Amino acid sequence: MFRTSLVACLIAGILASGCTSHATPSQQNKDTTLNSGEQPSRAEQQSFIAWRAGFRHRALAAGIAPGVFDAAFEHVTLNQQVIKLDRRQAEFTRQLWDYLDTAVSATRVSNGQEKRRALAGTLARIEQGYGVRPEVVLAVWGMETNYGSFRGNTPTIEGLATLAFEGRRREFAETQLIAALRILQSGDVSVQDMRGSWAGAMGHTQFMPTSYLEYARDFDGDGKRNIWSDDPTDALASTAYYLSRFGWQPGAPWGLEVTLPAGFDYAQADQNNRRPVAHWRRLGVTRANGTPLPDHGDAAILVPAGAQGPAFVVFNNFYVIKRYNNATAYAMAVGHLADKIAGGSDFNRAWPRHERALSRAEKQELQQRLTEQGFDTKGADGVIGPNTMTAIRAWQQAHGLTADGYASASLLNRLR
Ligand code: CA
Repeated sequence: MFRTSLVACLIAGILASGCTSHATPSQQNKDTTLNSGEQPSRAEQQSFIAWRAGFRHRALAAGIAPGVFDAAFEHVTLNQQVIKLDRRQAEFTRQLWDYLDTAVSATRVSNGQEKRRALAGTLARIEQGYGVRPEVVLAVWGMETNYGSFRGNTPTIEGLATLAFEGRRREFAETQLIAALRILQSGDVSVQDMRGSWAGAMGHTQFMPTSYLEYARDFDGDGKRNIWSDDPTDALASTAYYLSRFGWQPGAPWGLEVTLPAGFDYAQADQNNRRPVAHWRRLGVTRANGTPLPDHGDAAILVPAGAQGPAFVVFNNFYVIKRYNNATAYAMAVGHLADKIAGGSDFNRAWPRHERALSRAEKQELQQRLTEQGFDTKGADGVIGPNTMTAIRAWQQAHGLTADGYASASLLNRLR
């Protein structure tokens, strides 16, 4: 895992089982208002300079040449907007279907199809090289930067230096910063061109510097691994390589919509409960179109909106996408966008769109009420995790309801 993405938590919080991710997902919170004019105080500036002096020692000890460091930091100042964005907290999260409406919009699908035509040769070579089909690479690109149209304009060194100085995630930011300095030292990109999101993700598919060092490819053969330029070739190849290194299975789907049998035990619908396909077939799980489940190795059942919404079987590639960004909603969006770009259809079953998202305070209240009524959620942090879902299931069972563990507004009302 490579970094914690606040953005991932903001847009995908409903299902994020932790917000560690490789790259910044989509663009809702990108840095359009950077350098808004707020100036750091004199004291802040002084302590930033002190941090920089200390960090310079650490960077040089890690093998960064003094000249590279000094050139990289020549114009770096404390970026107030980065601090503001880093401190922002989300109170409300979006429902998965609202998120998917945006992430897999008709425009994004048709733009992806257009890119597939325009880049057919490159994408075919990438598939030949790394075994990842074009639609999946396009879907990551579409999710990360809307096909390169929002790559972010924050100077990467300045953004990461600000995060490191600010200190909430200093160790992480300094690690990324040293990786970024290594990239500059390698000569792949200039300080001026090394730009990206406020949180340090760079280029068409938003690689963090450490990921870049490990997975970036020079696919067009010009001697530079250039993920920043208008030409997305290297970035797309790097993305496919990243997925292949994390075990992408060529030819296998991320997941498929399924129909669950009557009386299905929803306690089994947990993405950590990966079982052979034969197990699910035995229980009577079929594809939504009624045909038997195909076997692509161990699989889990996912009911992101509880028993009222669509159900899915997810295979290995779903978990590989999560290595890019560890949010269930993100992985579903990439998978579904890829399928739609390839000409696939919408899900069969409708989402329960009448269910509104609970606020963090409401989730806390739900946890407190469950615990008070003897269904221990093991804390009330306002995040619906496995303990809360188990408590909800037990409560539902005790009240003769379908025990899907889904935290809904109607459940909260019944608890009140
Ligand atoms: Ca290149």
